[in-house]
Amino acid sequence: MQTLLDALAEIVGPENLLTGEAVRQRSVDWFTSAPCEAAAIVRPGNTEQLSRVMALCHAARQPVVTHGGLTGVVHGAVAAPSELAISLERMSAIEAIDPVGGTLTVQAGAPLQRVQEAAAEIGMQFPLDLGARGSCTIGGNIATNAGGIRVIRYGMMRQQVLGLEAVLADGRVLSSMNHMLKNNAGFDLKQLFIGSEGTLGIVTRAVLRLQPALASEQCALVAVPSFAALTSLLNLAPRRIGLSAFEALWNSHYRLMTEESGAHTPPLATDSPFYAILESQGMDAEHDAEQFQALLEEAFEAELITDAVLASSEAQRQAIWAIREDIEVLVRTLNPMFSFDVSLPIPAMEAYVEALEQRLAEAWPGVARLVTFGHLGDGNLHLMITVRDGGAESRRAVEQLVYAPLAEIGGSISAEHGIGLEKRDYLSLSRSETEIATMRLLKQALDPHGLLNPGKVLG
Ligand SMILES: Cc1cc2nc3c(=O)[nH]c(=O)nc-3n(C[C@H](O)[C@H](O)[C@H](O)COP(=O)(O)OP(=O)(O)OC[C@H]3O[C@@H](n4cnc5c(N)ncnc54)[C@H](O)[C@@H]3O)c2cc1C
Repeated sequence: MQTLLDALAEIVGPENLLTGEAVRQRSVDWFTSAPCEAAAIVRPGNTEQLSRVMALCHAARQPVVTHGGLTGVVHGAVAAPSELAISLERMSAIEAIDPVGGTLTVQAGAPLQRVQEAAAEIGMQFPLDLGARGSCTIGGNIATNAGGIRVIRYGMMRQQVLGLEAVLADGRVLSSMNHMLKNNAGFDLKQLFIGSEGTLGIVTRAVLRLQPALASEQCALVAVPSFAALTSLLNLAPRRIGLSAFEALWNSHYRLMTEESGAHTPPLATDSPFYAILESQGMDAEHDAEQFQALLEEAFEAELITDAVLASSEAQRQAIWAIREDIEVLVRTLNPMFSFDVSLPIPAMEAYVEALEQRLAEAWPGVARLVTFGHLGDGNLHLMITVRDGGAESRRAVEQLVYAPLAEIGGSISAEHGIGLEKRDYLSLSRSETEIATMRLLKQALDPHGLLNPGKVLG
């Protein structure tokens, strides 16, 4: 290993090969702050350096784990003491912005928020948005096919990527930096790297698709009397406003984030079974505000909502979103917490959550707690569960309760967070034998020695 490390240090410079305490100081788990255990962290400064690093690792059969912003939540960045971590942190430049073609060319280590800001500076927007925006990177967003709060309008990361460049396991550079919306010249190879969690290649650069900035934004928090009313509102809203987000909060979530924890002042009373955050984006502030107001009035009349608070300033908008995005309050209050990210058909959601709550209560009477919220329009729920015991056995038992019913109702064990190490034992609940065999075939073809993110996704 030392000979390899010396050779790598020559490529990236000794100051960009971290060992010992500098490695341990990094956390690879956003929830538990578990330290990085890799033998070393290698920080290439460009694609050429990374290509040479991987060529050497390939020759030495040295496994590597790619690190972006380390905000992933399925243990995808965990590295064993025998593995090297490759951090993209020095490759974070925004290389070009094309306002005419509506594209932004960026290195994979750039934080999402910086890309959003760069797009805003030229009157465009990069619409992918999630709570970890300040730390997560474009490479990580691509590797996990991140979702977030605007999927309902703009789709997931996959829909925002026009082209990319990746370093393969043997060090070859696969450049597929397409700038066009249409390109059907053969296989669309970039798709292989989107959502495959660093198991098929290391994403180094990308061409992203920008959207026009929409100057006017409306946001409201509403109280909803039933799940049927929630889905009716979800159905009605896009027909009345330029809906850009629809986030559902079960009472268990809203009450904990406000009254119970004291972390956020409740803008609405805490006794409603459901709440929703609605956001619209448009071009004409006055007209959009009227339309938004009219939607709320119609929803009141149809008894789809019982109360509402409309943000009248950016500070109020942020206060509403903070209730949804402040995951740290959940981590603190539900400690030890098991976090799940499932998707399922919207009509099946209410019964699924009720049955899960009941099964948890039966298994851990008086202790178990389920907190539910999520991107309702995407069929995506986040389930935060505590049984006040964080041990492996309890985790396994809770996982069984969460995942087992999903296969039957056509759901998925991972809506947007990916599989990592955490969910790989359950992959067969959401993917068929032939699908998994084809994934293995691709892995074998691109990384025959299993050097990229070993053990992740497929095991
Ligand atoms: C508060 C909070 C809110 C979040 N909200 C959302 C949300 O709404 N929607 C959502 O989808 N996710 C969400 N996440 C999860 C996380 O932010 C995303 O998965 C994000 O895309 C990870 O990016 P990262 O740069 O931090 O990747 P990392 O955590 O560093 O890595 C994640 C995985 O991608 C691989 N990887 C990273 N960079 C590369 C690369 N350049 N090439 C190849 N593989 C790579 C890693 O090996 C690992 O397997 C949230 C996380 C937090 C902490």
